[in-house]
Amino acid sequence: MNANTDFENLRALYQPRIPNDWRNRLPDPAGYYPSRLSKLGRPNGEGWAACRCPFHEDTHASAAVNLKTGAFRCFACDEKGDLPRFHQRITGLGFKAAVCDLLEVRA
Ligand SMILES: [Zn+2]
Repeated sequence: MNANTDFENLRALYQPRIPNDWRNRLPDPAGYYPSRLSKLGRPNGEGWAACRCPFHEDTHASAAVNLKTGAFRCFACDEKGDLPRFHQRITGLGFKAAVCDLLEVRA
């Protein structure tokens, strides 16, 4: 065993573990998004609400989030994805760390 494999083994120990049912344990989008977005409008019948995009200098409400499904989409900078993706982008965390953060699981 050389130093490299030692490092790989050590790193594996610190990989945050995501529970299998993590998708069911994500926060409610209607609770998650309002504190993180400005100019969030009223959702339409499908759950989409307009908002300012946090990923570019947005002077209009160019983006929309779905308060039912957690999806987001910006029509100006084309950033889009689901709630974990949004959290990853806004926090700068990697995927696993972002999911653990959302679940408040210790990484
Ligand atoms: Zn944008």
